Amino acid sequence: MSAKRPLPMLGKRDPAEGPPAPLTTVGLTPRRSLLTDSFGRIHNNLRISVTDRCNLRCTYCMPEEVTFRDKSELLTFEEITAFVRVAAPLGIDKIRLTGGEPLMRKELHKLARMLADVPGIKDIGLTTNGLLLADHAQELFDAGLKRLNVSLDTLDPTRFRALTRRDGLEKVLEGLAEARRVGFAPIKVNAVAIRGFAEHDVVPLARYCRENGFELRFIEYMPIGADSWEREKVFFAHEILELIGREVAELVPANSDPSAPAQDYTYRDGFGILGGTVGVIASISRPFCHHCNRLRLTADGKLRNCLFALDETDVREQLRKPCMDTEALAETIRQSVWAKWEGHEINAATFVKPDRTMHAIGG
Ligand code: SAM
Ligand code: SF4
Repeated sequence: MSAKRPLPMLGKRDPAEGPPAPLTTVGLTPRRSLLTDSFGRIHNNLRISVTDRCNLRCTYCMPEEVTFRDKSELLTFEEITAFVRVAAPLGIDKIRLTGGEPLMRKELHKLARMLADVPGIKDIGLTTNGLLLADHAQELFDAGLKRLNVSLDTLDPTRFRALTRRDGLEKVLEGLAEARRVGFAPIKVNAVAIRGFAEHDVVPLARYCRENGFELRFIEYMPIGADSWEREKVFFAHEILELIGREVAELVPANSDPSAPAQDYTYRDGFGILGGTVGVIASISRPFCHHCNRLRLTADGKLRNCLFALDETDVREQLRKPCMDTEALAETIRQSVWAKWEGHEINAATFVKPDRTMHAIGG
């Protein structure tokens, strides 16, 4: 791996030294072999993209015209599970399935079940645009998937079409209702906060989530799509909170997990116990890189240690070897995590946008 941006030397160890020798000798538990980077951040959170295909074309995420990868390039469910079997003893215990649109991958519930059976995996979530959710919610829930994030930026069909270049708002709302009926809890509704759009949608979304028992989360618009990004286009977290506090009800900070990217708030009036949380992911105005515990596996088997990484490490070849060398794969994962840089540098002049857009990485 050779990073185009220089790695800052603020870590506890010199990155050039490589990761410390794995502590997997007799008498030590597998948890001692943690995935640590050169800044001391421990990684337990793996985002797995299962496809780069999508049934929407959100302007902030992907281009209108796109060539998707051939199916043969995508990791099979067995290959993904084999990867997770190697990553789990290294400390990965939390997984999120994403894409592209993960529900475009046939029989995704089977993968959820296979991953739920891997020893050490405690938590599996899914991020979906919700279009196909009504048809699959029950089988996913039965397979052991309990945490669900549904992306929805607006409740207005015309604005939905403008943002996603497709119709489908009704389907998403049906999906959310069905997910709640089958028992998913919590259900988070994710919206991207783009100036010029979000001002119109923040209040209706907040009211809808409050009344329907969904947790609402806004993500500051990031430079990872196909369109041109400027800082001026970001509708900032503090503006969102101010708008909801003024137009919906007063918000008070909730006890957020410091390693979680979202800062959570509840309504002071206590209304909507279930949906009483508003979260903001201030990726631009308050980056959470110093707490980052994530790594990503793309649908075509590349390991990325940061959403904005300029380098990635192929693991597909190792996974496709007739006799896979699990220790070699474990070492590849360790090395990838170790090489992680300090932060994404979006706010710096040195920032370089990755070649892949969000749909091809996995959000
Ligand atoms: N298709 C699924 C969906 O939309 O939920 C999963 C993949 S999508 C890439 C994952 C998340 O990334 C979505 O919540 C989406 O809103 C978010 N996202 C995509 N492009 C973004 C951007 N430029 N800035 C911030 N969030 C973005
Ligand atoms: Fe598809 Fe999700 Fe990207 Fe929208 S955000 S284009 S739904 S992958």
